[in-house]
Amino acid sequence: MTALLEVEDLRVAYGKIEAVKGISFSVEAGQVVTLIGTNGAGKTTTLRTLSGLLKPSAGRIVFDGKPLGSVPAHKIVALGLAHSPEGRHIFPRLTIAENLQLGAFLRSDKAGIERDIQRAYELFPILGERSKQAAGTLSGGEQQMLAMGRALMSQPKLLMLDEPSMGLSPIMMQKIMSTITELKAQGTTILLVEQNAQAALSLADQGHVMEVGHIVLSGTGRDLLVDESVRKAYLGED
Ligand code: ATP
Repeated sequence: MTALLEVEDLRVAYGKIEAVKGISFSVEAGQVVTLIGTNGAGKTTTLRTLSGLLKPSAGRIVFDGKPLGSVPAHKIVALGLAHSPEGRHIFPRLTIAENLQLGAFLRSDKAGIERDIQRAYELFPILGERSKQAAGTLSGGEQQMLAMGRALMSQPKLLMLDEPSMGLSPIMMQKIMSTITELKAQGTTILLVEQNAQAALSLADQGHVMEVGHIVLSGTGRDLLVDESVRKAYLGED
């Protein structure tokens, strides 16, 4: 079986600085795959390249059987790849409902859009309770929920989440992680970038550890959780 996403020897540079130095990994349909690693490892750069926001300097990206090489970002969304970016980027003055509707900008099936908005409210009841309020009034964790809900509105085949737990309280982080588990149970395929290695590896099928632009270790979430070098470097053990 071919994977939903295949990344082969991907390189990405900002001018002369190479941030991603030849990484390869794949995501099978139905899997949660996580990229973990410290600040500056190249995780966000990788997601932005997959979304078409940055151009690779070398390598191959094949999504759902199609090479993405020079496909522009809006067409990549249409192919089924959605990105919930680091820092959320919701529209603070628009209402929660309007933010969700914007996530469906490529769709014209009104009934389906309404059904998916309701689904977002089921996943995150607080969004339903406050649907008519400006999104800027939500807390950081609630804005993260909205960003995830909005990304889901494009009915993606692959949902990419960049640091969904960043800056959240432990309770809110727990909520976000259990929602990712729930989405996985519903069959959503997810590529998750996280600095919280413990949380990410606990729910991932596959994990890859990135360091300064390279993947230095790969394995199942469970294997990496018990790996001694991972425990020392990322899980705060001596
Ligand atoms: P973080 O968790 O901080 O987002 P990351 O693993 O996602 O870390 P990237 O943001 O992809 O890492 O950054 C990888 C490298 O590329 C870093 O050295 C960073 O300083 C550099 N970099 C990122 N964005 C730019 C940019 N716009 N211009 C120049 N260099 C950049």
